Amino acid sequence: MDRRTFVRTTGLGALGVVTGCLDPEGVGQEPPRLLPAPQSLSGGGATVAISQWPNSADAAAFISADDLCPVNLGPDYDFGGSWADPQPAGSLGGVVESFVLDLLNAYPGIRFSFNTIAAMRFDPRTNGTLDQAYALPLMSDWTARLRDIQGSHPGFVLGWHGYSHYDPVHQGPGEFFGYDASRTSAVLNKMEDAGRRSGLSFTRAFRPPGWRTTGALLEDLATRGYLLQDSSSMSTFAGVRPGYIRTAGGNWLFRMGVTFQLTAADTFAQGGWFEAHHHMTLPNANTLTDPANRDRIKRFVQRWYPSTEPQIAWLSADEVFRAYSDAAAIQWVGSFSGRKVTIDLLNARAIKPGITWIINSNNANDVEVLAGGVKIKSAVTQRPGVLKVSVID
Ligand SMILES: [Zn+2]
Repeated sequence: MDRRTFVRTTGLGALGVVTGCLDPEGVGQEPPRLLPAPQSLSGGGATVAISQWPNSADAAAFISADDLCPVNLGPDYDFGGSWADPQPAGSLGGVVESFVLDLLNAYPGIRFSFNTIAAMRFDPRTNGTLDQAYALPLMSDWTARLRDIQGSHPGFVLGWHGYSHYDPVHQGPGEFFGYDASRTSAVLNKMEDAGRRSGLSFTRAFRPPGWRTTGALLEDLATRGYLLQDSSSMSTFAGVRPGYIRTAGGNWLFRMGVTFQLTAADTFAQGGWFEAHHHMTLPNANTLTDPANRDRIKRFVQRWYPSTEPQIAWLSADEVFRAYSDAAAIQWVGSFSGRKVTIDLLNARAIKPGITWIINSNNANDVEVLAGGVKIKSAVTQRPGVLKVSVID
């Protein structure tokens, strides 16, 4: 849980933000494909950029809640453990569960992502341990219920939130703070094994328990290809646009995270990804057990789900990563003639439906995408100073 004690990890001085103009020389580990910098087109005062958002979206969003797991310690500390029980009408766990499912039913395109603990052992009431670990493979009623929800609600997504959530060295929620590199690796193996045996489907999203990272954890997450879910209070944060950072050890880690500085509207104006972030229980202020927080989520969805200015893509962490990777795989050259921008594909086989380019220009009024000189099917949208073109099936 987020106890609002964000502690910056030391020893991450070499952590770097990566842009498209990176010189890979001297880099130890193989660089992934990075989104290229925008191209400036001569003669037109125009720039063309391939977008990290698909289908002409301007920005992206999702809703999240940390700590969903099979534990129920009473109404204010029900981590979702009651979801497997037949609900007595009006119980708080039932209200939260219904809220989540009703929202997913009413807005099937949203993504509501829950970060789950493989074998929960942390007791937020005491900052100590629970008397047992709630290992997912042993909680078969609960995992069956969640598999059921996953099967019927594509917008219901699970990410990772550690193995026990408990740091046995410092007695608190920041599990990995208590582990050295070899213990970190062993615990991540146990987490993955429990996840596999649960039969649940997980994204590659990983939110550190207690929002506490260490150098060893970041290296391991990068090596395993996890998508770090950080926040603007953590040392890894590199802005509201998801992308790669380099760890102190030279590994590439894809990150995205919560901003505590920008509103949703400001985040969207920057082409960013806004996480409407919550927790399952107290002591966090953003708990789903609070009706005011549930109302806020509902208003957020009502406000942005139908929005066209800006247009919002609802994406899980995996979908964010896929959209970025798909866009970064395209090689292309832009040119400007008359008032028309042309985008020539150099590796047309990499193209996928939804790939989008954004042209900033006051002169351009048309854009086309060519593969070997042949125009490919695309949708163009225009607003003052901005043209967007998106590849369609
Ligand atoms: Zn937590």
